[in-house]
Order: sequence, then C-alpha cells, then structure tokens
Amino acid sequence: MANRAAIAGVAVTPVAVPDPPLLNAAGCHEPFALRCIVEIEDGAGRVGLGEAYGDDATRQALEAAAPALRGADPWNLASIWAAVAGASGGTGGKTPAPDGAEGAALNAPGAVRSRAANAYAALEVACLDLQGRQADVPVAELLGGRHRPAVEFSAYLFYKFGRHAPRDPAAQGAPPPADPWGEALDPAGIVAQARRMAERHGFGTFKLKGGVFPPEEEAAAVEALRDAFPRAPLRLDPNAVWSVPTAVRIGAALRESGGLEYYEDPTAGMEGMAEARRASGLPCATNMCVTSFGDLPRAVALRPVDFILSDHHFWGGLRATVRLSAFCRDFGLGVSMHSNTHLGVSLAAMVHVAAAMPHLTAACDTHYPWQEGHDVIAEAWRFEEGRLRVPEGPGLGVTLDRRRLAAMHEAWQRCGIRRRNDRDEMRRHVPGWEYRNPRW
Ligand SMILES: [Mg+2]
Repeated sequence: MANRAAIAGVAVTPVAVPDPPLLNAAGCHEPFALRCIVEIEDGAGRVGLGEAYGDDATRQALEAAAPALRGADPWNLASIWAAVAGASGGTGGKTPAPDGAEGAALNAPGAVRSRAANAYAALEVACLDLQGRQADVPVAELLGGRHRPAVEFSAYLFYKFGRHAPRDPAAQGAPPPADPWGEALDPAGIVAQARRMAERHGFGTFKLKGGVFPPEEEAAAVEALRDAFPRAPLRLDPNAVWSVPTAVRIGAALRESGGLEYYEDPTAGMEGMAEARRASGLPCATNMCVTSFGDLPRAVALRPVDFILSDHHFWGGLRATVRLSAFCRDFGLGVSMHSNTHLGVSLAAMVHVAAAMPHLTAACDTHYPWQEGHDVIAEAWRFEEGRLRVPEGPGLGVTLDRRRLAAMHEAWQRCGIRRRNDRDEMRRHVPGWEYRNPRW
C-alpha cells in the first residue's frame, strides 16, 4: 500500500468538558467530566484520533505506552497491545493471542476494566482511524463492513439537580447558574426531560438512570414515561443498588403494567440478576455483571441477562466489540451499547463499530446530548430522528478542532478534578450522603 507509514508520534491531551449535575446510584456528576484525547501521527502528517477516560490512571497508562509506539506499524495491532501491556507492568504473564488485539490478558474475568485495556482501546481506535486515512476507507469497513447505514440511539434520562452546588460553600458570591435542562427530581420532571430529548434529537427509545430515589418512585417515573410515550421502548437502570427481592418486586410490577424493553442491572451479580430475570419475567440487560470475555461462559450457563451492553472502552476496543456482537448472535443473546460521558471522537468510534456489529438488537446509549455541543471535533454530531449516519470518508470521519482542544485542556488544568468522584459531589448537595449497596 503506497500510503502505509509508521507511527511518528503520539500525543495524549487530558481535557475537561462541562457536565450537568446528573444523579446516579454513586452520587452526582461534577461540573466537569474528564476525557483524554489521543493523537497518533504518521510520518506523512496524517493523524488518527482516539478518546479514553480522563482519570489519572488511564492517562498515565496512555502516556507510559506512547514512547513504545513510535516507529510501530499502526496496522499491527498486536504490537500496539504488546506496547500497552508492557508499559502497564505486564498482564499477568499472558501474551496477546496471535490474532492480535483481543489478547489473552483481555480474557480474564474483570481484566478488561484494567487500565491497560482502557488505554489500549483508545490507541486501537486511533490506529484504526490512521489506517483508514492511509488506505482511504472508513473505520467501519476496516471492521468488516457496514451492516447498517445509520445507528439508532436512545434518550438517556437522568434525575438531576437544576444547578451545581457551590464548590466552596464558604466563598461568597452568586450560586452557579442553572442549566437549560432544569431540575428533574420526580416523574413530571423526567417526562419533561424526555420530551425535550425527543424534540431536540428525535429519540424514540428512553432509558432512565435509576438507583437514586426509592424504587417505587422510579417505577412511577417509568409509568409516567409510558403514559407520555405509549409505543416507545423503555429501560430502567438502577446500577445494581437494589436487593434481589426489591428487583423482583419492582420488576414484576413493571411487567404487569406494560413491561420494559429491558431491565438493566437492577441488582448485583450474575446469580442475583438471573433470579431477578426469572422471577420478574422481564428481559434483562447488563453492563455490570458481564464485562469481559472471561465472564461469557458463566453468562451463558446462568443466563442473567437477555442483552449484553457492549462498550469498546472496556471490552478492549472496536475489533473486540465486533467479536462480542458475533458471540451474542451465536449464543442467542441480544446486544446493545453502554455509554459513559464522552466526546465526539468516542461517538465516532461508537457509530463505526455499531455499524460493523453483525448483531445489534437495540438502540445504543449515549451521554452526548448532555455535553450541549461542547466538543473537541470541528463539527459536532447532530442526531436525526435519534440516529447518526455512519461517515463515509476515511477513518473515523471526524477532525480535531485544535482551538477547542486547547480550551478544554486549559479547563482540565484549571478545574482541579483528577479522578471522578460522584460521592463527594453529592455531599455538596446532601451533606453526609453515603453510597450503599444494596440501598433498597
Ligand atoms: Mg448500566
């Protein structure tokens, strides 16, 4: 290939993106969410982009791997994995599988949440973007081709405060401004938020992040959504802070009143989920009890869920996500996609991999609307009828806006947040608040 060229440099830039006070079982989102933007440049000046979590551990894993990538072939993903694993202090003595990216170390239960896997995922995305730019093909084609021209997303609804708490309660001055979404602390607030999401972005599927208020209140919010959107698929995700009896009781009531598209992690662990699924009669989903290839044999045996929620950031990249999709198809499982707060580079990766997944049975999650257009890419993504079209240009099909990248890096330098801490943020609103599991 005439344009094939080795990696000449790697840049890792931590950024902070404004984030509203969204609530979950672990507390409240801080005023800024952290991400890392990865740029891998070849000798011809072409740049591949990746995006990772922005906590110190992931950033340090990326920075540690960067020197070993210089001179490497961006098409040889096995060598990229070896560089990451080597820089992260090894992977328990295991070496990558011969087919490269989805190395053996990624197959240990829980291993994919390791910082090596998180860092590798961002570097793999950047290498695939660079491959696409060198070969003039979209990333979806590098992953095996498009199974769909556009990808459907769901509206991700959150209980939320109307404004952030003051960072320093002793300081005098105006309180932080209210955000345009307003407060959503009851069923009416959630329905209003859903209407705004539907009007602005055209979403037709709604997911409520639960685990915040007593389960009956959250079930009432789901009922209110069903009244407002009678034909829309609905999901509820309490992030595993309900006991098995609570999950069964609420799930059975929701099934009775009209069902859910899926009941996401109402309780913890595969055994608990299997019981909640069996006794409630609801389809169940997880991004918590099945999070790595090593978890799959037990998931097939115990059947805790009907849907596995993929996420290339912790399943080990885009190629691993395609492999997960095929596995789910072959073993009779549904598959959808999980999201954390992210920017447009990760969204591009999500769109390309979702297009290339041979089996994708529900709308994908995204936090993107909550960032209100704050992004590092030149042209922010716009949903049409809740969908994003798969870019047809080379690579991921997005370009970095260096002015925005610099501004968001400056925000990272100023914000003082280095590790996500929803609990302490919640305590600024509710003094003494504690995480408990099970809470109900
Ligand atoms: Mg979840």
